[in-house]
Amino acid sequence: METIKMTTPLVEMDGDEMTRILWGMIKETLILPFVDLKTEYYDLGLLNRNATKDQVTIDAAHAARRLGVAVKCATITPNRQRMEEYPELTEMWKSPNGTIRAILDGTAFRAPIVLPCIRPAVKNWAAPITVARHAYGDMYKAVDLETEEPGEATLTFRGRSGAEQVLSVQQVEGGAVWQAQHNKESSIRSFARSCFQYALSQKQDLWFSTKDTIAKVYDGTFKRIFEEEYEQTYRAEFEQAGITYFYTLIDDAVARVIRSKGGFIWALKNYDGDVMSDMIAAAFGSLAMMTSVLVSPDGTMEFEASHGTVTRHYYRYRKGEQTSTNPMATIFAWSGAFRRRGELDRLPDLVRFGEALEAASLETLESGVMTGDLLPLVEPGFPVRSVTSGEFLDAIAARLTKALA
Ligand code: NAP
Ligand code: MG
Repeated sequence: METIKMTTPLVEMDGDEMTRILWGMIKETLILPFVDLKTEYYDLGLLNRNATKDQVTIDAAHAARRLGVAVKCATITPNRQRMEEYPELTEMWKSPNGTIRAILDGTAFRAPIVLPCIRPAVKNWAAPITVARHAYGDMYKAVDLETEEPGEATLTFRGRSGAEQVLSVQQVEGGAVWQAQHNKESSIRSFARSCFQYALSQKQDLWFSTKDTIAKVYDGTFKRIFEEEYEQTYRAEFEQAGITYFYTLIDDAVARVIRSKGGFIWALKNYDGDVMSDMIAAAFGSLAMMTSVLVSPDGTMEFEASHGTVTRHYYRYRKGEQTSTNPMATIFAWSGAFRRRGELDRLPDLVRFGEALEAASLETLESGVMTGDLLPLVEPGFPVRSVTSGEFLDAIAARLTKALA
């Protein structure tokens, strides 16, 4: 069989532990037999981040900006315990995802992989709901204050010109707690652009919700910026793609999401996204089936799994045991990257390969062949067989070979 050609390389960011093992197996079994793979390889494994003083993470992020499409393996974010486990570490290196997100000025979109045999907790959800969480500011960069005596709090903005604006927050007669939050026009605009870009790439409707009836200036600014971006830049493309941008109050959005069939992207402010993304993920089933895409305002995309490096399975693997770790989210990171690369480079065969890889993976699960984590989630009576990661990948490869023949 002739392998599928690529023109522009993908930025490949390798990672740690069990997901690094799966990474190699996926390439070997599901990619290299079919694709003449071109990548720019960056080893983001913890030891190489340490050896390069984390420069490799920065280089990888810049490569993603330059080439436009990246695929990333899960990586260890070191904590105190990891410093003991890896005595060679010279520093508690920062989260690679945080570093990459800052360089790409990106928004992360989390989407579940859905299957008929694993029904979401909300029975009318037939298609995935993708959550986009704004990752800057609000409560996460707030300052808090606790006071005891009667008095008044004011909020002062001092401009670089020296001009001041002062607002009375509240007079109190006893103890009180206070919080000051901010967000930046530029960050909100980048968030909006990433959301519109991603909705276009997925050809899915975009929902956005805030509480602008109460926070008229604060949330009102989010609403206004989204509207401006839509009207000025994206409306024509949305209409051409047959998708809509829909703004509604967060209370109304929550009610509509529960009654919906799914199949759209829901953009949320930082706190709302923090809470709702965990609810949506849990309602769809398994962390092992959640994918994630980091999208920058210019349309650069970095695809990955939402889960971590699955440390507990890795320790068993190192003892020589076969593990039944679920590779679905990592496979879909690769397939998403191939589809995007194929679209940008006008390589229909590469797009089709990404689609075929997803179809073969889903059909394998639908045939009842799955990793152990999914067994408790399938519908009662559905016949299943628990297999190791290796057996699961071989079963997908067999289907993929037939599909591409
Ligand atoms: P985790 O790796 O996501 O795993 C937590 C548990 O979830 C696992 O022990 C396993 O449960 C289950 N699980 C997750 N993914 C699975 C899969 N693909 N197949 C089967 N089961 C799966 O989270 P963690 O243990 O909290 O974090 C481990 C390391 O990952 C940390 O060093 C953290 O820094 C890193 N991390 C990286 C990223 C990223 O790079 N994007 C994200 C999160 C965490 P059972 O053990 O019960 O089977
Ligand atoms: Mg959360």
